[in-house]
This record gives sequence, C-alpha cells and structure tokens, in this order.
Amino acid sequence: MKTSVKSSVKTYEMLINGKFVKARNGGVRDILDPASGELLAVVPEAGRADVKLAVEAARKAFDEGPWRKTTAQDRGKLLFKIGDLIRANAKALAELEVRNMGKPLAEAEYDVADAANCFEFYGGLATKIHGETMSVPANSMSFVVREPIGVCGQIIPWNYPLLMSAWKIAPALASGCTVVLKPSELTPLTALFLARLMHEAGAPAGVVNVVSGPGAGAGEELAESPLVDKLAFTGGTATGRKIALAAVGNLKKLTLELGGKNPNIVFADADFDSAVDGALFAAFANQGEVCSAGSRLLVEKSIKKRFVAAMLAKIPRIKLGHGLGAGVKMGPLVSAAHRDKVEAMIKAGVHEGAKLVCGGGRPKGAEFAKGFFLEPTIFDEVKPTMRIAREEIFGPVLSVLEFKDEAEAIRLANDTEYGLAAGVWTLNVNKGIRVLKELRAGITWLNTYHPTFNEMPWGGYKQSGNGRELGLYGIQAYLETKQININLDEAPLGWY
Ligand code: NAD
Repeated sequence: MKTSVKSSVKTYEMLINGKFVKARNGGVRDILDPASGELLAVVPEAGRADVKLAVEAARKAFDEGPWRKTTAQDRGKLLFKIGDLIRANAKALAELEVRNMGKPLAEAEYDVADAANCFEFYGGLATKIHGETMSVPANSMSFVVREPIGVCGQIIPWNYPLLMSAWKIAPALASGCTVVLKPSELTPLTALFLARLMHEAGAPAGVVNVVSGPGAGAGEELAESPLVDKLAFTGGTATGRKIALAAVGNLKKLTLELGGKNPNIVFADADFDSAVDGALFAAFANQGEVCSAGSRLLVEKSIKKRFVAAMLAKIPRIKLGHGLGAGVKMGPLVSAAHRDKVEAMIKAGVHEGAKLVCGGGRPKGAEFAKGFFLEPTIFDEVKPTMRIAREEIFGPVLSVLEFKDEAEAIRLANDTEYGLAAGVWTLNVNKGIRVLKELRAGITWLNTYHPTFNEMPWGGYKQSGNGRELGLYGIQAYLETKQININLDEAPLGWY
C-alpha cells in the first residue's frame, strides 16, 4: 500500500452564500482520525448565527435568484459537472473519507463512485420532471405542474458522509430547490470538500450552502427555521423525533431516514456458503455502522450450530486496522464515545445471558492502542426480548436468534419497532418471495445483502422513517404539485 497513514492537519472553511468562511464567532472543532486518535483537521463550528446566514442566502437564491428559473438542462449540466469533479478527485475524497470516518478504503472508493453516479442520475432526471394534462369537462383544461419546494435544510449522519451528501443535494438541486446541508460534526470533511467542488462546478451563490456544526444549535436552527420549506434528515430515530417536533413550527415538509434493527433470515435450504458470507458482510461492512446492517441474524434451528461455526471460522479474515492499510476489512469505530456506547450494549448482552462466541473486546497490539477499534462480535442464543435483539447498536455486533419454521421467521423478523431493511436466504424461490412479501421493511434482499442502487427508492417502514429518497421517488420529495385550471369558455359564469 503506497498511501501513508500519516496526514497533515488542514483547516477547512464552510460554504455560505458562495463564499468560503469561518464561523462568525471564530468557533472551531478538532476532527480526529479515529484509527489513530490524531488531529486530522480543524473545521468551523457553526452556531445558530451561521446557519441563519446560510438559510437567508438559500432563501434569497430561491426567491430572487436565477436558480428556480434556470432550465432543467442547465441544472442537469451542473450536476453532471459535479459528478465529473467527484470522479476527478476520487482518490483524494476516498482517502479523506477513510481518515475522517474510519471505513476501509475499498468501501470509501465505492461510496465515492456511487456519489458521482448519484449526481449523474439526478442530472439526467432534471430534464424529466413532467406534469399532467387533463381535459375535464369539455369547456376547461386542467394541468398539473411540478415545482421546487423551496429552501431545503438537510442534516446527515457520520457513517456515509459523502454519499449521504450526494443523496441529499443532487435531487434537491435537480428539482430547482436551494440547499443548506449540515454534515455530522464528527465527519464533515468530505462534505466540505464537496462544497469546494460544487463551487468550482459553478453552483451560483446561495444555491448550495454547507455548514459544519453540531446538532445542538446549528442543527436545531435548521430544523426550526421558518425560512426553510423542507427538511431532509438522516440519523437516529430519537433525533428524528426531535426534528419532527422542531419542524412543526412552520409545518415543513419532512423526510426522515432513521435507524434499523434489520433481520437477515437464513433458511436451512439456503446456499450455505453464500449465506455465511452474506451474514458476515451484512453485519460487519462499514464496522456495522450501517442503518441497514443485518444485525439480527435469524437462522433455522436445524442448521444454526453449523452456521455459527462456519461464521466463526471466517472471522479471522476480517482484518482490523487503519482503513488505508493493506488488506484491512474493518476500521475503527467513529469515535471514542460511540465505542463506549457499543461496548455498553455488549455488556448488556452478556448480562442478559446471551452467549458471546467471538469478539466483545478491543483488539490488542500497538497499532490499535490509540484508535477506537473494537473486535467483530457475535452473540449466539439471543432471545427476542434481549436489548441486543431489539435496540440498534450501530457497531460490529451480530445477534444470532433461531427459528423453527417460516411462520416463526416472519414473526421474529417483524417483531421490532423498526422497518428499514431485511434479507432472506433460501434456494426455494417461492418461499423467498413469499417471505419477502410478509416483511415490514422498505429495502429487502433475496440471497444477497446490502447492494442498492441510486435508481431505486431508499427508506423505511414503521419507525425507520418517513418518505423515500433516491430513484424517481427521491425527486418527488423535493417537488410541490400545483394544479392550473383554464376556462376555455368566454361567457360569464352566470352563477349569480
Ligand atoms: P444522530 O441522530 O445522532 O445525528 C444525525 C445528524 O443530526 C447529525 O448531523 C447531528 O449533528 C444532527 N443532530 C443531532 N441532534 C439534532 C437536533 N436536535 N436537531 C437537529 N440536528 C441534530 O445520528 P448519528 O449518530 O450521526 O448516525 C447514526 C444514526 O443514523 C443511526 O441511527 C443510523 O441508523 C441512522 N442512519 C440512517 C440511515 C437511513 O438511511 N435510514 C442512513 C445512515 C444512518
């Protein structure tokens, strides 16, 4: 591996009204490399005043600026240009994502390519926003036109900083909205890098603003602001509830992408080796810090013992280390505080009587000493009532439960307040589709886990969210619907 894991400390600025600026009160935040605990960068710590300025700029750019009235082609061209610039800077973006968030380089490279694809997908879609025409009754015509919602506040979590930025910004710009994006205070670097690229691509002043700051203050201001028409939030379910309450003041349009405790169901008639690989990838990709992680593995009783043994045999292949290190498959958790939370859940699992069959602790060795590493952890004999079966852990912790038949698998899978994602493994196609139809989840897989596409809708049932992002659905979330009625008759109405 040629890339050095050492990096120099860089100071970033945020994008407000077409200018790169510091926080008004001079506040800054240190950003750490979670693999080494070393200082990586210093970013502005936006407060309410900075967010207000960004929102006012977005408001002005929407109400007075040219953006809403640009042609769809011009909006599309800007998005394609941003996509091109992401590709041209792919290496730097991927490495920065690894250093800030901790994920392995191969995963970051995938995220960067997907972020570029997302801008290109919505660049193409910008010219395909259509309304409807109706002629009812004979002396009138009725049109439906789609118009941008307006100023969009967008708040994202720390686990996919660049990709989540793309998922949020691309459809909003394609539809003619203006944007204030707030990345997580833990991982703002690639979003701030993206701000530079969007500026370079020619995004007009105020059309897209990126503010780095915490949820308290900066995030709250965005959620509460009466000048914001729509709020798109991705993050934890508890935060989502607060956001919904904050947004109620001016009845903002709201999309919420929240947490999950996703079932991954393995039937005895699955392709055994594929299902073992799939179960591990579902649980441990991105250190398990994935909203759609298959963190609840439901295995048919007749194969469970053999299945757990097969997973354990493969665990040593999950090489821990700095995400830029050769062959590394799992990086550190995002922060010391987050690792503490995950460790508390591991303790809860042990305390409640689940059987810890691997991991559970911090890896030994000098290379792990200063980072926030945690071993891949599997609990067997988990009962559906245990906290580790019910609560989102958001780390490399897999809970294994057993079921005896199809009906019990479906019941256990749906026995959760969440409904984001679910997987099913069986070579019986009828059974696979039958079970998928019964699962109360927005994103489902048969004989695979995790692949999703910019072209397809993303979002959850139940308390995993509200609305959908991506695909054609994603652009609908940034459009208003207006009916225009035209009288074709010159004669007065004659009602009175
Ligand atoms: P979080 O809810 O703590 O924070 C998310 C964002 O909200 C951050 O930018 C944070 O600064 C901001 N925030 C926090 N409190 C706020 C408030 N009161 N008002 C306004 N903004 C506020 O989540 P996290 O720890 O960053 O991310 C992990 C969570 O995100 C997990 O629950 C995960 O499942 C979820 N997630 C969901 C999806 C999805 O698509 N459904 C995708 C990724 C992550």
